[in-house]
Amino acid sequence: MKTSVISISEQNEQKLLSKARKIMSRGGLVAFPTETVYGLGGNALKKKAAAKIYKAKGRPSDNPLIVHIAEIDEVYSLASEIPDEFFKLAENFWPGPLTMILKKSSIVPDETTGALNTVAIRMPSHPIARKLISSCGFPIAAPSANSSGKPSPTSASHVFTDLNGKIPLIIDGGDCQIGIESTVLSLAGDKPLLLRPGAITKEMIESVIGEISVSEGILSPLMENEAPQSPGMKYKHYSPKADVTVVEGSSADFIAFLEEIKSEVGAYALCYEEEAHLSPIPYLIFGKFSDELSQASALFSALREFDEMEALRVYAHSPKTSGISLAVYNRLIRAAGFKVIKVGEK
Ligand code: AMP
Ligand code: MG
Repeated sequence: MKTSVISISEQNEQKLLSKARKIMSRGGLVAFPTETVYGLGGNALKKKAAAKIYKAKGRPSDNPLIVHIAEIDEVYSLASEIPDEFFKLAENFWPGPLTMILKKSSIVPDETTGALNTVAIRMPSHPIARKLISSCGFPIAAPSANSSGKPSPTSASHVFTDLNGKIPLIIDGGDCQIGIESTVLSLAGDKPLLLRPGAITKEMIESVIGEISVSEGILSPLMENEAPQSPGMKYKHYSPKADVTVVEGSSADFIAFLEEIKSEVGAYALCYEEEAHLSPIPYLIFGKFSDELSQASALFSALREFDEMEALRVYAHSPKTSGISLAVYNRLIRAAGFKVIKVGEK
């Protein structure tokens, strides 16, 4: 299959959205930009479209898809139970990078939800994503548009690298503003449960609905035979080819550590802008320590760049574990297969 990558502009917007709608109405797939990462979209209500998504990504079919909507009213047909917290959170954070999990209705096929009786729903804020969903007239299931296991795509060229020949169309809307996937919050259990941290932070959610629980899977690997609270937790994620280690410690201790390992072949550092000039080994920058959003938007692109540089090992300076940095930390420890070392401790 030939994969077209078409930049969207005011001039071609209507024509391109109508082309995308035609593809998806026939059960086909289109990759499109959102404010978080690029999504691989198909009709969420068609089994066949969901099957195509799993195949194109190489994603295990028990790892459910997020259903994207353009109007809040669509939730009534997708969900069978809608708690008050849902409306409060939607009012505060939608459209935006928050996915909420609710008990599903019968119109959502098992293929879309990985056979769970719940459905994950999000209303994105990216204008192209909104217009695309509205013009289709059906909800769009869209996981990140990468090959399963690779870092999520934050540009159309990342999508092309992974999915060339597997889908007919990539809508190029430039780099994603946030750069990490949405926050995932379950409202289908007894108490709201944070399953994946993102740009809508735990603190922001708690300011609206009070205390929430946090899944242990956010910061630690699953134990053998442990059932994940969210199926995505059990799969390898975000992995560049290099062997990644997360290094916890102050800037000075991180740089001192790099001095110790600087003769290792193929070793690179992933540093903050403030400390990068002190690195004794080649490095990439993932934003500023003082600017959490800049870390989120640079992380996946940096992980992909290490592949192009043929890095063998990457030592990444650890983000904090609060606010948006918690989401960056959550992605990075997965990229590292949970390999974390502490430096500078006596
Ligand atoms: P992605 O689409 O690649 O951003 O991944 C979506 C994430 O949401 C995965 O980690 C899924 O396991 C999680 N998810 C989607 N639907 C559900 C659901 N119904 N229950 C729990 N987790 C879900
Ligand atoms: Mg993904």
